[in-house]
Amino acid sequence: MNIVHVSPEFAPLVKVGGLGDVVFSLSKELAAEGHSSSVILPHYSQIDETLLENPLQQEFVLTTPEGNALITWKTTRGIYNGITLYLLKPNHPKRYFDRDKIYGEIDDNDRFILFSCAAALLIEEVFASPIVHLHDWQTALVAPLLFEEFPIVFTIHNIAYQGRCSEENIRRVSLEKYLPSLRFYDREGLYLMKGALEWSGAITTVSPTYAEEIQTPEFGYGFEGVVTHHAPKLVGILNGLDLEYWNPQTDRHVAANFSPHAKDLFEKKEVNKKALFQWFQKPFSNAPLFCSITRLVPQKGPDLIEAGIEYALQTGRSFALSGSTCDVTETQFQKVQQRFGMHDQALLYFGFDEPLAHLIYAAADYILIPSSFEPCGLTQMIALLYGAIPIVTATGGLKDTIVDISAPGGNGIVLGAHTKEAVYEGIERACDIPLDVRKEIFGTMNRARFSWKNSLAKYEQLYESFVSEPL
Ligand code: ADP
Repeated sequence: MNIVHVSPEFAPLVKVGGLGDVVFSLSKELAAEGHSSSVILPHYSQIDETLLENPLQQEFVLTTPEGNALITWKTTRGIYNGITLYLLKPNHPKRYFDRDKIYGEIDDNDRFILFSCAAALLIEEVFASPIVHLHDWQTALVAPLLFEEFPIVFTIHNIAYQGRCSEENIRRVSLEKYLPSLRFYDREGLYLMKGALEWSGAITTVSPTYAEEIQTPEFGYGFEGVVTHHAPKLVGILNGLDLEYWNPQTDRHVAANFSPHAKDLFEKKEVNKKALFQWFQKPFSNAPLFCSITRLVPQKGPDLIEAGIEYALQTGRSFALSGSTCDVTETQFQKVQQRFGMHDQALLYFGFDEPLAHLIYAAADYILIPSSFEPCGLTQMIALLYGAIPIVTATGGLKDTIVDISAPGGNGIVLGAHTKEAVYEGIERACDIPLDVRKEIFGTMNRARFSWKNSLAKYEQLYESFVSEPL
């Protein structure tokens, strides 16, 4: 099959969170299965083109209207891990993808609406009988543009990000005729994601539990009605991990490589712990090490992460945090840094650092993930592969992957509530797990459980259903 993904992220070339990991690993697995697998991305200035094999700049005749102007696009095509990448750069005075940030710019709507228009044109121009797979609101507008020609799959990675935009945003690219599909009859505003739900042949989301949750007011963020309406074409498919990339036996970012199955797992983790304290230039402590590796946005439970840091330090444990703050949490975590930054057992880093994240996974004994909702979550799966026990709330993909230690097959701590007290209790329960039980969890763990194996087959089935039943 010929599968073309359109995505705002693709790890490791451009990654803000799990979406980047997932688009990379899914398209890589599809290529490995012999499918033609391509990804269309904005050509952000952060992308290191030297990582592409045979990069080739091609001038496809792509011009998209914007107001009274016609925008031309430069396309760079290259291969990465068997995947054909198309990087799209507009010749535009606003340098839409030459910014400090990937998201969070004042003109995000214009940036991604224009990108979607160009991606749709490129697909029409270049691909024979493609199955078009779109990811999140940034690419949603491709669905109404192409649904009459090609099968479309739309994946909701997080329904809280909906692409709310104005009429002006849509009029600028002369797509007024799609306005009605972006509106709700009982809710103000225009939403790019709404159009994609209407026009896609299939909708997927990233875990079975999240597929149920987004049909309720608590998790649907105003979309529960439209999601329920389209439930017959919705399926929850758990994300997999790229086990080649997330492999502590070969990971080049860790100080000591190890297998989670090996007898000397904890000795090797101690070497990594020492390297981590050294990274932070702090004296080594062999106390239990908790961690969080996360975007510090409201969804991820920033108050509970702060409470976890405070409690762990007060009770003699260590805490490592790699957290990318946002406008809402920046001041909160500046204060956290002021309060705890000098503490010898507080290893606090604010920002996004991929190599550091790998070292933290390899060093930590436990990872705290107190999300209020979690579509899939990758950090709990990565942590298990790296010998750290997850402490999680029972929501979305966390619920689908972590079983409380008190139950048969237990592999983590499931918090009873989304409260500070539950976090304190979770930390104590985690420390109470005897070392030999932790060893057994990792020693008997089936790494392949977190691979793409099962989920890839579900995506292939979905794509095949389009091939066997043409539009
Ligand atoms: P989300 O996609 O909501 O951010 P996931 O758990 O699905 O959450 O995926 C998070 C991915 O991003 C993981 O690969 C994790 O290691 C990485 N990550 C998140 N925040 C940071 C950070 N501050 N520094 C380094 N890596 C991070």
